[in-house]
Amino acid sequence: MGQVDITLFYMDMVLTAMWAFSWGVIGGAMKMAPKATLRFCAANLLFAGTVALLVQRTGTPSYVHYQGVEWLVFVGLATFHSGIVYLVRLDELPTLARRISPILIAMVITLQVAPDGSSYMVRAIVFSLTVAALTFSCFWDCYRGLRNDQFSATVRWAISGPFLLAMLAMLARVVLVLAEGPPPPTEGFVQVPHFTPFLWMLTIIVMAMNITMAGLTAGRLVKRFRSLAEQDHLTGCLNRASMEERLAIELERTHRTGEPVACVFFDLDHFKDINDRHGHETGDRALCHVVEVVQSRLRTVDALGRFGGEEFMVLMPGTHLTGAREAANRMRMALEESPLRAHDTDIVLTASFGAAVLGSRESQASVLRRADAAMYLAKRNGRNRVEISLEPIQSQIGIQR
Ligand code: GH3
Ligand code: MG
Ligand code: MG
Repeated sequence: MGQVDITLFYMDMVLTAMWAFSWGVIGGAMKMAPKATLRFCAANLLFAGTVALLVQRTGTPSYVHYQGVEWLVFVGLATFHSGIVYLVRLDELPTLARRISPILIAMVITLQVAPDGSSYMVRAIVFSLTVAALTFSCFWDCYRGLRNDQFSATVRWAISGPFLLAMLAMLARVVLVLAEGPPPPTEGFVQVPHFTPFLWMLTIIVMAMNITMAGLTAGRLVKRFRSLAEQDHLTGCLNRASMEERLAIELERTHRTGEPVACVFFDLDHFKDINDRHGHETGDRALCHVVEVVQSRLRTVDALGRFGGEEFMVLMPGTHLTGAREAANRMRMALEESPLRAHDTDIVLTASFGAAVLGSRESQASVLRRADAAMYLAKRNGRNRVEISLEPIQSQIGIQR
């Protein structure tokens, strides 16, 4: 073993131990995604142990220093893989058989050969194929797990790509080993061919795996905080602040492109009576029920938010006033037709709607005022109905009515 290899070994040992420590702090002390991060910690400890054993490899036959080292890598990778599965929250876990069968096959085959350098060919091929299978599992489950999170294709490839590259590198090694044949023994000790590049490859793979997973763990956290900050804590729909933020974005888009955006306000009718008659808890359930019913009638581009108390707002991009009125009517009828079942009675919930379309030079305050005024007109005109606000639309972007 050359000086470079020894240095690389120690570097790998320090790096994997440091990763294990970091993951241990993240999962154990900070309790961040502990099921996943503690598995990453265990996997890196196994990798560090592998390197420690590998350094002690001599020409003397030893199952611990030959087959044992390789098996530890497999178990480390399988542990890393289960960490990924927890981190990306796959709907269904890959079966245990799928996860451990490559390892069992590799164990059975490598137990048949000598625990020393003379079995290099068999062990190198089995090792590379097994690592290829395990890294492919990491890639595949990471990629499909990230799809659940609706990450863009670029992000999915950037995070899961290193595992695919690792698999390809291992397959390339199988080809190389087969092409070159067994190395000649020197002083009873079989020198692994191309050992330094091989070690570099393993170092880079382990680094890339850890870095991408650290990035994903941090990304997860940011996403969670963001969604908590955007959500209404009772109903789970958007809150007022994030609706106003979206409205500002839509307003800017309308100013730029002239594309219409409808803003619909609705307020539940006689909601105080529901609280008074059935209790505040039922009132809370009614608010959640309303969100569920209305949300199911919206397109994915629409946004529903709770503006306060029992007042809600819906933003509908690409919608003219006619469309907004129709959509509001559909929501109104859906609410009326879906009573809330509480204390063995059906509580019919109705709401009054006001719709306005953003004018191309209109301010946020103005459109909110108009939608609100239309909603109050619906209240005055008898409730459980839709009213629309006409001005200042006609003079500005010629919205169809
Ligand atoms: P209107 O048809 O004129 O809108 O009548 P209303 O009774 O719905 O209107 P009012 O403004 O008089 O009452 C609103 C009620 O909504 C009063 C308040 O207790 C209730 N409310 C506001 N926020 C919540 C909430 O988070 N949970 C529950 N259960 N009730 C709420
Ligand atoms: Mg009300
Ligand atoms: Mg109200």
